[in-house]
Amino acid sequence: MSSVTSSSGTSSSASGSSAKLELDNGNSMYAKLVVGADGSKSSVRELARIQTTGWKYSQSAIICTVEHAVENFCAWQRFLPNGPIALLPIGEKFSNIVWSMDPKEAVDRNSMSEDDFVKAVNLALDDGYGPHPRSKSFEGGNVFSWLKADSTSSTHEGFELPPKVIKLASHRMAFPLSLMHANSYASKRLVLIGDAAHTVHPLAGQGVNMGFADALCLSKVIAEGVAVGSDIGEVCS
Ligand SMILES: Cc1cc2nc3c(=O)[nH]c(=O)nc-3n(C[C@H](O)[C@H](O)[C@H](O)COP(=O)(O)OP(=O)(O)OC[C@H]3O[C@@H](n4cnc5c(N)ncnc54)[C@H](O)[C@@H]3O)c2cc1C
Repeated sequence: MSSVTSSSGTSSSASGSSAKLELDNGNSMYAKLVVGADGSKSSVRELARIQTTGWKYSQSAIICTVEHAVENFCAWQRFLPNGPIALLPIGEKFSNIVWSMDPKEAVDRNSMSEDDFVKAVNLALDDGYGPHPRSKSFEGGNVFSWLKADSTSSTHEGFELPPKVIKLASHRMAFPLSLMHANSYASKRLVLIGDAAHTVHPLAGQGVNMGFADALCLSKVIAEGVAVGSDIGEVCS
């Protein structure tokens, strides 16, 4: 896509105006409303000249898929001095790793051998940075914690370790982490949703949920607009 502009003319919309999208292949498209859902580097946001506010977290995250010897259906997260490591099940014996750390460490861990990386992950998920909690509850004095999220866990269960990683099942990728917030989510005939509108640190695992909430909210607003016969591309004052 090379431009998004407001246009009047060839549109067949009732109001006689629509957004015009000029595509890289030379074709044009017209719509009452353009939804920018094209991620954190949104071209739609850029073409609409919507400014953003934000900052870098001075952290990078290494992400990859790993394989276990046993099935894993639990999400695990351990808080380490340089940032959290998360083990997120994706089915059967596979999980995704999201490991936040300082950028220099990320470069080193991204380039170390696969065997060394797997060892480092297992150490990080086990007792690599300190002892296991001593009791069922997290007692004072323990700087480190393990969080396990599944439908069967309870605070009464004993301490449990995540399943060991036996090998990498994908390439490793390192991402600089940053917070970004679009200064506006909507302008005439255009809205931004998901990461195009906002990105947050993966620590809380909320990025996807926030995008789903945006989509739900937008669909309600559009439905209400359609129900009362208003132009869904107009910005309400
Ligand atoms: C390291 C890391 C770990 C994360 N971990 C979690 C987590 O555990 N839990 C969680 O909830 N969230 C997590 N997130 C955040 C989550 O990935 C995002 O919030 C979510 O993917 C945003 O969805 P989206 O659809 O808005 O954008 P995206 O997922 O970026 O999707 C945008 C889509 O638009 C497409 N696109 C872009 N430009 C164009 C174009 N010009 N034409 C056509 N298509 C285009 C892209 O190809 C892409 O498919 C993490 C993010 C990072 C970086």
